Amino acid sequence: MDIAKHLSETEISARILRHAVPKMSELNIPVTPNNYSVWYEYYLGINLDLKRAIDGLLANEVSFTTDVCDGLFTTYIQQNSPELMEHVQIETQMLINSLLSKIAGMSQGNIKFSTSLQKFDKTLKNNPTPEVLQDIVDDIATELDGIINANIAMDQSLTSINQEVGALKKEMLDLRSVVMTDQLTSLKNRRAFDEEVISHIETFNQQEIKSSLLVVDIDHFKRFNDVHGHLIGDKVLTYVAQALKQSVKGDDFVARYGGEEFVILLSNTGIAEAKIVAENVRKKIAQRNLTIGKEKKMPLGNITVSVGCASLKLEDSKDSYFIRADEALYRAKSAGRNRVITESEVS
Ligand code: GH3
Ligand code: MG
Ligand code: MG
Repeated sequence: MDIAKHLSETEISARILRHAVPKMSELNIPVTPNNYSVWYEYYLGINLDLKRAIDGLLANEVSFTTDVCDGLFTTYIQQNSPELMEHVQIETQMLINSLLSKIAGMSQGNIKFSTSLQKFDKTLKNNPTPEVLQDIVDDIATELDGIINANIAMDQSLTSINQEVGALKKEMLDLRSVVMTDQLTSLKNRRAFDEEVISHIETFNQQEIKSSLLVVDIDHFKRFNDVHGHLIGDKVLTYVAQALKQSVKGDDFVARYGGEEFVILLSNTGIAEAKIVAENVRKKIAQRNLTIGKEKKMPLGNITVSVGCASLKLEDSKDSYFIRADEALYRAKSAGRNRVITESEVS
């Protein structure tokens, strides 16, 4: 189920709450903050690794023991960002406590009402006098008043729970954005790239929307670090990240794949066009004379990049797609660096 589309944040949160809590109770999973975070993410539907893991467990009818639940939390939620988790945990705890006390209050109200109904039923069977009947009518009116008041209170509670869930949802989204961002360059990271490739494969298979992939690697970067030091190396990585972003359209996807290697996913783009984009990227970086220092500018010389390009094919998986672009990159390196090679040029 993909419930994250076309709804406001509060609506999504409320919907998730309505799905997650009953599902957890069906599976005998205690509604603790950690477990709730797992199932919230599951129903949010954007943590694909977590979704796959839980769907696998459900399909195999694995029971959600404490160990299984703790494992899901540690692997798919906690490892991503411990500090933010702390906030989410406290708020989830408050939310669940308030939700459970509201539910408890509501069911107590219902029990009281059905007891009164049994009492009325008995009295009616014993040929009550008009006075007794009058008393029953009065009692029912009082009970109904109570129920109406309880419903008003319940409505208000639900609105406030809704708001709390909305705030929680925002924290979850913030958490997600931290988890998907490379801290040094502020580009998307490899995790975000993995999700983006899967979405390209899906839209290609369903709507035949083309996709091309560029793998960009800085040439002789080890040497650069050796000469200028790691800190200046880090600044150059940030510069390359910005240069890549500026070389592509706003909706193209740029990420730091790791180390001094970057990836660009171009939607709706065939290999010929991708090669043109790659050439622009390569030239933009090679042309720039790098300097460091604000007033006394110290020259650092040029850096260059090599680029491998591939286009998505019908039978491709995430890995096969990447491997073809990476093989083209390897060829660009062995052919002398500072160049673009496409998969069709790899024999
Ligand atoms: P090639 O042209 O074959 O790609 O050579 P290279 O030196 O760039 O490649 P190699 O894989 O041998 O080394 C990559 C270097 O990138 C090693 C490391 O010093 C540098 N590097 C990786 N990550 C970082 C980082 O976060 N900061 C800095 N400053 N350097 C990094
Ligand atoms: Mg390199
Ligand atoms: Mg490399």
